[in-house]
Amino acid sequence: MERLSLSDGAVFELEHCNKCGFCLPACPTYQETGSEVASPRGRLSLVEAAWRGEIEAGQGLADALSLCLGCRACESACPSGVRYGRVLEEARAALYHRRPAFTVRHETVPMLLDLVRQRRRFRRLVRLGQWGRSLPMPRRFKAAAALLPGPRPRLAPKPMPPAPSAPRPRIWFFTTCVMDTAYREANDAAVALLRAAGAEVIVEPDQGCCGALHAHSGREEEARAMARANLARWRHLPDDTWIVLHAGGCGAMLAEYDYLLRDDPEWGPVAARWAGRVKDFATALADLPRRPVYAGKGERVALQNSCHLVNGLRQGGAPVEILQNVPGDTFVPVPGQDRCCGSAGVYNLNEPGMAQRILERHVDEVRTERVDVWIVNNPGCGLQCEAGVRQAQLPTRVWHLAEYLYDRWTGEVTEAAR
Ligand code: SF4
Ligand code: SF4
Repeated sequence: MERLSLSDGAVFELEHCNKCGFCLPACPTYQETGSEVASPRGRLSLVEAAWRGEIEAGQGLADALSLCLGCRACESACPSGVRYGRVLEEARAALYHRRPAFTVRHETVPMLLDLVRQRRRFRRLVRLGQWGRSLPMPRRFKAAAALLPGPRPRLAPKPMPPAPSAPRPRIWFFTTCVMDTAYREANDAAVALLRAAGAEVIVEPDQGCCGALHAHSGREEEARAMARANLARWRHLPDDTWIVLHAGGCGAMLAEYDYLLRDDPEWGPVAARWAGRVKDFATALADLPRRPVYAGKGERVALQNSCHLVNGLRQGGAPVEILQNVPGDTFVPVPGQDRCCGSAGVYNLNEPGMAQRILERHVDEVRTERVDVWIVNNPGCGLQCEAGVRQAQLPTRVWHLAEYLYDRWTGEVTEAAR
């Protein structure tokens, strides 16, 4: 039997799993099924058995790994520090190389992975899909069109406070392909707030994709090529520049380029230089010298924290802290706040049944808590949560954190307390 090929790094992670099972309660697919095969420990055991040549590295293994969200909640729960995500992505890549059909479940996924690299075309197709989503269309496009976002909130222009006279932190703002395509207003709002908070923000046109969707789908070589293209843009920036973005999934990817390119003698050291300089929008906002002054509107606000922001980038605290401090609104900490919503990149296309079950749990919590505004900080979560409230016919609005904060911003700023 042919063994599943894995790098030393992935084998190191496998060998450090002592099968204690502490990660099981944190795993959404285990919570839904109660099945060991749908748990982190079960998946690690299967990959290890395929690596040892004890089981076939075929469709059964691919099915078990496909049902994993890749949310990495198991990593945060693991007392031994096993980096499950590394094992998952390498095993998926090995299966993809063996036979692409093992990992591709929905026929629109390869098309989507090509489209995210062509932003203008992607944007045109998104608009077309939004306009024609209620019209008859081939069944294979229906599922993707149903996830497209509705109209965004209108954000009125606000007078910008003068820039601070002291040297300002420099930010290179990564627009990310899905945010730039489906949620451009949220990016504009994020940039305005970062500037108001005292940053010098550089927004380069014609940026590339981070490669996260490709890495999660086993297409590691394509992800590496995208990583190198992004690093080439940053290579000549001063060392103290922050790379800031408003998409948790992409942020975790950028911060882990050093692992992705660890065997690349040219680009590995460049990636290592930038790994610690990636900040999510909320973290950057909290670290800047000025604070925007907010005024709430008497609404109940909940957060769907991006799982890769929480478990990958490990910056899930800043959005909570900011939302807790908007006077006039009530922040409602829903039980599933940090649990994956079922979007997980292209998971909701590949595994629609499980994605829907997971989403419904969240929507139930939002309904119970009578949430007016459900905040997201990753574009995939935005699409998924919006589809959930649409299906459930809830009056809840799904807004990106930057859209919400910009809406509540009075136009004033204060010095940050240090
Ligand atoms: S991944 Fe960590 S928590 Fe889960 S079984 Fe292995 S050692 Fe235990
Ligand atoms: S990544 Fe998420 S879904 Fe996959 S095993 Fe870990 S906790 Fe479960």
